[in-house]
Amino acid sequence: MYFLMTNDVESFSIPLNKLDYNTAREVYKVGLPRLLDVYAKHDIKCTFYFTGEIIESVPETLELVLDYGHDIGCHGFSHSHNRTFDSMNLYEQIAELKKAKHTIEKIAGRIYDFRAPALRINEFTIRALEQTGFNTDSSVASQRFDGPFTFGSKRKLKWLVAPRNPYYPSYDSVMKKGASNILEIPISAYFFSYIGTTMRISPLIVKILEKFLFAESQRTEKPIVFLFHPNECLDAKTGAAFARRANNVVEYIFADVIRNRLKVKNLGTGAVRLISEVIKRSKKAGAEFVTMQDYRKLME
Ligand SMILES: [Zn+2]
Repeated sequence: MYFLMTNDVESFSIPLNKLDYNTAREVYKVGLPRLLDVYAKHDIKCTFYFTGEIIESVPETLELVLDYGHDIGCHGFSHSHNRTFDSMNLYEQIAELKKAKHTIEKIAGRIYDFRAPALRINEFTIRALEQTGFNTDSSVASQRFDGPFTFGSKRKLKWLVAPRNPYYPSYDSVMKKGASNILEIPISAYFFSYIGTTMRISPLIVKILEKFLFAESQRTEKPIVFLFHPNECLDAKTGAAFARRANNVVEYIFADVIRNRLKVKNLGTGAVRLISEVIKRSKKAGAEFVTMQDYRKLME
């Protein structure tokens, strides 16, 4: 059973619900050291996806992760809700990827792995990734169902039909198998997603989800992909802020009010403890921890 522990490094403040320079500093000073310490203790190698933005404001974040020997990937340039990949055409996506890749590669050397901010991609993304030298993507969460709890939730209904095992997507749809050269390695989900947010809101749901995912992996060799963020390892100093972004009342209640209140649960040392438990349980179930590039080579 292969286990890919993946980390999206961005300057987003979960309690403040916005991008924030101080959060970038805190990620470097507190969030990353806490997380890197856990991974070092368990002796596992992971993939860290960086936004170009956080590297421009605090380049030390990337240097620190490199010092620990983890693999580096790209999480777009901007993490702004107004600049998601699914709102861009092919040429805009290529420009955005080039800009982000250049910023990261100046420090990290060649990179090949991509995950879109907010997991928002469209039919142009695969072609854009090929044209900018990437070879893996991990932006699809097959069979994850968010209901009204995230923005763009209608578009994410497409996840319900995506293949479960890693696949090469078609140029017409990222959710279908096809002839591209980008290996899509889906984030583990089964109705609930196997990510830090679920883990912090309900450690019990994550344990139940693991039973299912681990059994499936033994049966079908589907790799386990967990999505986590160093900013989840920062203590919440204030309560949740309610930045109203919804387009209608239902989206406001679910996506803005309820979700934001839940999203601050177990931030900081709670998250650090819970992620250690995820690693321990996975090791007990026989997991072998690999990076995206390790996995791609294994599949060749
Ligand atoms: Zn992100």
